[in-house]
Amino acid sequence: MTDSNYSIENIAGILQAKLFVQNQPALISKLVIDSRSVIDPEESLFFALSGKRDGHYYIDHAYSNGIRNFVVSDENYTRTYSDANVILIDDVLSALQILSGYNRKYYHLPVLAITGSNGKTIVKEWLYQLLAADYNIVRSPKSFNSQIGVPLSVWQINEMHTLGIFEAGISREGEMDALAEIIAPTIGILTNIGEAHAEGFSSHTEKLLEKLKLFKETELFIYSPEYTAGLDENELPGKTRFSWSTKQKADLQVLFVEPIDGRNYIRALYKGEEIECLIPFSDNASLENGIICWATLLAMGYTAAQADANLEKLTLVSMRLELKNGINQCSVIDDSYSADISSLAIALDFLNLQNQHPKRTLILSDLYETGKPDEVLYAEIAALLKQKNVNRIIGIGTHISACSEAFEIESVFYENTQSFIDNFPSVHFSNETILVKGARRFEFGRISKLIVQKIHDTVLEIDLNALAGNLQFYRNKLRPGVKVMAMVKAFSYGSGSFEIANLLQYHKVDYLAVAYTDEGISLRKSGISIPIMVMSPEPSAFDAIIKHNLEPEIYNLDILRSFTTFLGENERNYPVHLKIDTGMHRLGFEEPDLKDLLLLLNESDKVKVVSVFSHLVGSEDEVHDEFTTHQLSRFTAIADEISRGLDYTFIRHISNTSGISRHPEAQFDMVRIGIGLYGFDGGLKNNRGLQTVAVLKTTITQLKHVKPNETVGYSRKGMLSEGGTIATVKIGYADGYNRKFGNGNGKMLIKGKLVPTVGVICMDMCMIDVTGLDVKTGDEVIVFNGELTIAELARQIETIPYEILTNISQRVKRVYFYE
Ligand SMILES: *Cc1c(COP(=O)(O)O)cnc(C)c1O
Repeated sequence: MTDSNYSIENIAGILQAKLFVQNQPALISKLVIDSRSVIDPEESLFFALSGKRDGHYYIDHAYSNGIRNFVVSDENYTRTYSDANVILIDDVLSALQILSGYNRKYYHLPVLAITGSNGKTIVKEWLYQLLAADYNIVRSPKSFNSQIGVPLSVWQINEMHTLGIFEAGISREGEMDALAEIIAPTIGILTNIGEAHAEGFSSHTEKLLEKLKLFKETELFIYSPEYTAGLDENELPGKTRFSWSTKQKADLQVLFVEPIDGRNYIRALYKGEEIECLIPFSDNASLENGIICWATLLAMGYTAAQADANLEKLTLVSMRLELKNGINQCSVIDDSYSADISSLAIALDFLNLQNQHPKRTLILSDLYETGKPDEVLYAEIAALLKQKNVNRIIGIGTHISACSEAFEIESVFYENTQSFIDNFPSVHFSNETILVKGARRFEFGRISKLIVQKIHDTVLEIDLNALAGNLQFYRNKLRPGVKVMAMVKAFSYGSGSFEIANLLQYHKVDYLAVAYTDEGISLRKSGISIPIMVMSPEPSAFDAIIKHNLEPEIYNLDILRSFTTFLGENERNYPVHLKIDTGMHRLGFEEPDLKDLLLLLNESDKVKVVSVFSHLVGSEDEVHDEFTTHQLSRFTAIADEISRGLDYTFIRHISNTSGISRHPEAQFDMVRIGIGLYGFDGGLKNNRGLQTVAVLKTTITQLKHVKPNETVGYSRKGMLSEGGTIATVKIGYADGYNRKFGNGNGKMLIKGKLVPTVGVICMDMCMIDVTGLDVKTGDEVIVFNGELTIAELARQIETIPYEILTNISQRVKRVYFYE
């Protein structure tokens, strides 16, 4: 094996920790921190890392996935299994770091480390593109740059590699020393230092000095003096240094930048001569990242001509996996960004958590630079596919084709991308999830074009990682043991349906809730198996409710009677949820109903009350706090009375999103999170702590110049008093862009500038004022995002974020991202 391979005894020795051997001698090649993502269980070592949740909690799950080697800090876990090896140590995280640092020092290769406020991942990926022809490179997967991400990245180093490129990110003082120890860089790159006052640092200088600790032992330090202003020469790291600047004297001093045709042409002074390069991107961030890469190539000894030739070929780096609608009822995950085993495992996890289709297909190219012989590599991939429930592989490339025997699942192979495309009409795709993953040179974009449904220019982008982050944000506020019901009614507040529900199921929420039976049925058909509560169970749908194992909300005696009657004579303990009215005065039982309710419930054991709940009317607002308290005590009184009348226990819940953030006393046994998952909470100041989940984008269809006396749109409502330029964009009221946004009430973002609407909003289009802006047809226009927020849009037309989100019509395509 060419993976780093350590025996479990060797590892215990490196960690100077106690080892409890209860299994065969084990050789470890993989370090695992998430019990759900296991590639090669026999060779995996699971670290019970404790974050917000105690990592020991996941040991069972890791064990059930085949792992037999563990690092724990709780002595009780040393003998849980009779066939596992367990290392006991005080600090599991530092064990992970020490082990990885040991692996780094075992190999003597040059290592480039990158830190800074922005651009780390892009610079890392671009340097990879620039240097891959000359080195066998090992690098951080995606943006693994944390206290956990760095050791996992560095652990990948093996004897095949000739260069490492790793990024490091920190959020507070004192963190960099550990990362410097693990990476032990020989070359350091500081990308930049943001102005923003970061939490966890008392000053700009302190933040800078902390970041520079990464480079204290480096041979070579690459930086811009613009970002190290305020430090003395002797405070800078590096035995030698290479500086770049656009403003002052430096080893690479940029003299001149000119945008040409979407690219940046740059001239600079280097060793007393003028040199030039072309960076194939036009935005400022890419310009800076490009200059950093340029400086790095020169500092590493490349000639100006070589550097120029390489930089020109840089390609876009996108770290996001995109889930899109495909042809023939398929879903497509598009990931042509990097084709190595760890990114493949991440993409397969995403594939695996999307259960909406019965079949999963992977289209995979040859993988490069893995440092492994083909037979080993493809055998490993074949095992991975089996474990991740992939049903079919379409392999493209001569290497994967030569190893076709390794795959036991349905498979077909093509020599190259063109031969797949030529045969495309005979390849069958229907009702399946397809992961497209190929090394850059295979140009799998051409394949995506064939199988992804053309997206109409207005799209709602949903960031699934942000959604999972928001779920965690609320979980962190819960007392141990409190369950979570996630509200996915109304297409998950407009954000999607099964895609979101699958993610929530993967993240182990306890319950989902929908408004109507239909919504519940479609979730079941998409592979959702956790309990689902239906809030408006119409009697005509009882049959379907039972058939799909949905759990009705019971809000009055009539519905309870008819549901019980409907249930077959042999039905026992069918789960139902009782809704109590504590002040909303919408649906639900009140005190006077309880006697009859209990009588009816005790008449037979056809139904069983699994939960009793109510709903807060004003949890987000201080003004209503007194009423909230009143609702809570009323709820407790009624739930107590029901409890006395039943001979079993049930779950109590009342909190919605703002209830969780503002009323910790209202958690009872479960909470119901709705809008907070999607990034809003009226109870938090400016949604602090929540991440933006949804971005609505459209494009410019046409540009027009209008004179001062001309009008724009229906009823001649729009006019630019000075004349100017109008852009027509592809979003109208039929897409959910309310007519009230017309006549300048609504604003959109284009190239970072806020521009008003002009005239009335039409059904499929509207017009915005782009006078004086450098824009062209096809340019992207943001309707809302993290900057121009839904909350701001809600203010513009005097409504609430809930309505803005849920009004986005179904014809607007949703695209999901996962990192
Ligand atoms: C929609 C809904 C919620 C969620 O409310 P948010 O304010 O979006 O968190 C909770 N409970 C019930 C009964 C609901 O209908």
